[in-house]
Amino acid sequence: LLLLGIETTCDETAAAIVRRRADGSGTILSNIVLSQTDDHAAYGGVVPEIAARAHVEVLDHVIERALRSSGVKLVELDAIAAAAGPGLIGGVIVGLTTAKAMALAARKPLVAVNHLEAHALTARLTDAVPFPFLLLLVSGGHTQLVAVTGVGEYHKLGGTIDDAIGEAFDKTAKMLGLPYPGGPAVERAALRGDASRFHLPRPLMGKPTPDFSLSGLKTAVRLEALAIAPLHDQDVNDLCASFQAAVVDVLADRVRCALRKMREHGIKPNALVLAGGVGANQVVRRTLHKVAADGGTRLAVPPPELCTDNGAMIAWAGAERLALGLTDELSFAPRARWPLDEVEGAASLD
Ligand code: ATP
Ligand code: MG
Ligand code: FE
Repeated sequence: LLLLGIETTCDETAAAIVRRRADGSGTILSNIVLSQTDDHAAYGGVVPEIAARAHVEVLDHVIERALRSSGVKLVELDAIAAAAGPGLIGGVIVGLTTAKAMALAARKPLVAVNHLEAHALTARLTDAVPFPFLLLLVSGGHTQLVAVTGVGEYHKLGGTIDDAIGEAFDKTAKMLGLPYPGGPAVERAALRGDASRFHLPRPLMGKPTPDFSLSGLKTAVRLEALAIAPLHDQDVNDLCASFQAAVVDVLADRVRCALRKMREHGIKPNALVLAGGVGANQVVRRTLHKVAADGGTRLAVPPPELCTDNGAMIAWAGAERLALGLTDELSFAPRARWPLDEVEGAASLD
């Protein structure tokens, strides 16, 4: 199966061509990501209206480039996939409407992909992970531990009760005067910092359900920063290192808890899958590699550029759905909110 995937839910305008073979393996033929970072940097975060307009301006061009550099012609595609949510509604409308227009004109099926499902399934493209697996989804808007037993079969074990982890990285960066997006900036600063200088809380660590809470940690960073202001570069580096160490401790503990929960449910995971933008963080990757091994499984995590938003993950999720006969009507409405456990799979067809 050959699919075009379109991603416009946040501040990346992206399109990709992906092939999925009958044996379940996949290849990325092209993957074009145009980040709007510069458009939003001055505001310290994504401005929805600016994002939507920027998607309109560049999406045609991005799709053309994805097709051209893959060598695949529109007529050769088996379907057009687009992220239909969750995300900033203006951007979602741009991507989904474009996909619908292309599907109509080229007489191809449409696959309306849930952006979180796309993050979740990417490790099956890069690492051929069989179901079931434990998913740790850590992105800008989401922080969840999910038992994944099939395409469209997502059983949430736990999640954040306040901020997402990516959001905590972004807010911490902003607070410390680091550039947007915050995650990579905090990771870079932490490399030169002393993680033992500040003793920050590890919220919900040791709790029997695999939930998260990040807002207290963020506040603790703010209080430490205020106490030693004005901040010098080394202070910022030390705060970032201490913050990242706390996040990583919490992640490791919550994942161990979720692995236990899965076992209690009688499910033996084939892998711990790390997905979403925070999965690009090297310290997070290293730590969870060890946690997975200690827990009797392995870590599967896409390369950093496939952890953050991209078109290949949408095309791949579309292909996984199409392989099961799951396509969508052209009337499919864009969704600002669309939790992973409300995604429908093949089981709900009959
Ligand atoms: P969602 O997927 O929940 O809708 P999103 O699409 O905006 O949100 P992603 O693109 O998956 O999120 O990830 C972006 C988030 O990942 C941002 O919060 C960013 O700070 C964070 N991030 C990216 N790189 C790193 C890194 N190296 N370390 C930590 N966080 C990172
Ligand atoms: Mg982004
Ligand atoms: Fe995302």
